[in-house]
Amino acid sequence: MPPTAGTGAEFLAGVSAALQSSAVKQAYRCWAEIDLTALRENLALLRNRVGPSVRILTVVKADAYGHGLKQIAALLMQSGTDIFGVANLGEAEAILNVGRGWPVLMLGASLPDEIELALRLGVMPTVSSREEAQAFSGAAVRLQKRAKVHVKIDTGMGRLGVAMKDARALIRDVLQLPGLVLEGVYTHYADAGEDLAFSRLQRRRFSDLLRWLGQIGVRVPMIHASNSAALLSDAGSHFNVVRPGLLVYGVMPPMRTGISGAVIGRFRPALSWFCRIGLIKEVEPGARLSYGGTFVAARKMRVAVLTAGYGDGYFRAGSNRSEVLIRGRRCRVVGRVTMDQTLVDVSEVDGIEVGDVAVLIGRQGDQEITATALAESWGTIAWEVLTGITYRVARVYRGGEAA
Ligand SMILES: *Cc1c(COP(=O)(O)O)cnc(C)c1O
Repeated sequence: MPPTAGTGAEFLAGVSAALQSSAVKQAYRCWAEIDLTALRENLALLRNRVGPSVRILTVVKADAYGHGLKQIAALLMQSGTDIFGVANLGEAEAILNVGRGWPVLMLGASLPDEIELALRLGVMPTVSSREEAQAFSGAAVRLQKRAKVHVKIDTGMGRLGVAMKDARALIRDVLQLPGLVLEGVYTHYADAGEDLAFSRLQRRRFSDLLRWLGQIGVRVPMIHASNSAALLSDAGSHFNVVRPGLLVYGVMPPMRTGISGAVIGRFRPALSWFCRIGLIKEVEPGARLSYGGTFVAARKMRVAVLTAGYGDGYFRAGSNRSEVLIRGRRCRVVGRVTMDQTLVDVSEVDGIEVGDVAVLIGRQGDQEITATALAESWGTIAWEVLTGITYRVARVYRGGEAA
């Protein structure tokens, strides 16, 4: 069985050792390999991009974008992360269990019944409203703790954050309420990779607010705005903290705005995704394949049944559309993707055998299927593909030994 518990370097070494055993590998029907060396190198590229004085807040929400939160947190702690960003307190707790005392920013809103726990964990909350600020202040006084608050400014994302017209009043509240420390001020781009003009407008609004903070003599330790796309498009305006998610995992966000500055080297995808061939069969012209008979063989063809389906996170949207790699060749999905099995056309693949590995995301020979390309074939984005890989898919870690 693939290892599922434990943390830190010892754990990573154990996984690598287990991987040497082909018996372990044989047990896999559908698994993801996470290349920790790639993650480490991606973080180094990010560090190179922003320089030594900007802190890197790595976003590890949604099980570290499907890569496995504990293992990724352990690796990132050893690779130059300064702060972690999470979407809920369970994720924060998991990180603090790996490394006590790490700074963690809760990117989501805190529910009223989570405020005490957030304070006990020492997580930095995001505050968008006076009510949230008051709730944290009250709880902090009661528990005799200090809440290190990040005030979020809505400069155009229209999700969390205080409206520009109310931002100054909220910041004044945070500065005055007992038990609160104004630790950060931040905003979030709505379209950093695609709409340069709107991103500039958002940055101008944010900068106006920062100028006002300077004028009233308030120094805020952490100022941040840049997600992955902004990091690529927006050299020189990273404030003093950046918040990359996707790029940490080596996946490029869609970029219509162009990548500014010197080419920063190659981000390498950390995750590859595999399954196996469970059955190979010849089908006759006219044969209907899979539920609903949406594919009818026009000729004699060879079809492989793969050991992965939407129950593993291989979206049904890929029916009759997506491609996998087998023996270095692209093979198209035929018929509907089902819960546990998917059919592909392998008529053109020589020497194919039951048990062969099929690549769902990753490289084989000179071919590659990226998370972004797979997402496009499903009509979605790489973020959803990665976070959609289900619990049934074993995560296997490589490259931990050097950590
Ligand atoms: C998820 C998230 C990020 C990371 O975004 P990427 O596009 O994956 O780099 C950064 N900031 C906030 C507020 C987020 O919610």
